[in-house]
Amino acid sequence: MKVYECCGVETLTKKYFCPDCGGEEFADREISDSGTVYSFTKIHIAPAEFAHIAPYYVVLVDLDEADCKVTTRMLEEVKIGDSVTLDKLEHGAYIYRKV
Ligand SMILES: [Zn+2]
Repeated sequence: MKVYECCGVETLTKKYFCPDCGGEEFADREISDSGTVYSFTKIHIAPAEFAHIAPYYVVLVDLDEADCKVTTRMLEEVKIGDSVTLDKLEHGAYIYRKV
């Protein structure tokens, strides 16, 4: 995946302007998809489109190679500190799995 950086802040989504300096120039770099589980929530009652996969987990992953976190969906049971990596992108959502 790619991260964008300006003023030392890295994000996964490219913004039009840097919220700090107003700059439009972002440095981008390719980083590994792997990360560590930072926090998670188990979803029992899912919105209709995800009801068929419930229960599942919404997991905040601290990326190994960037100073930012990504919100992902996981089907496996996880705990804080687990090593995870990108499984696939589904309708723009990051689906992670345990390593
Ligand atoms: Zn900036």
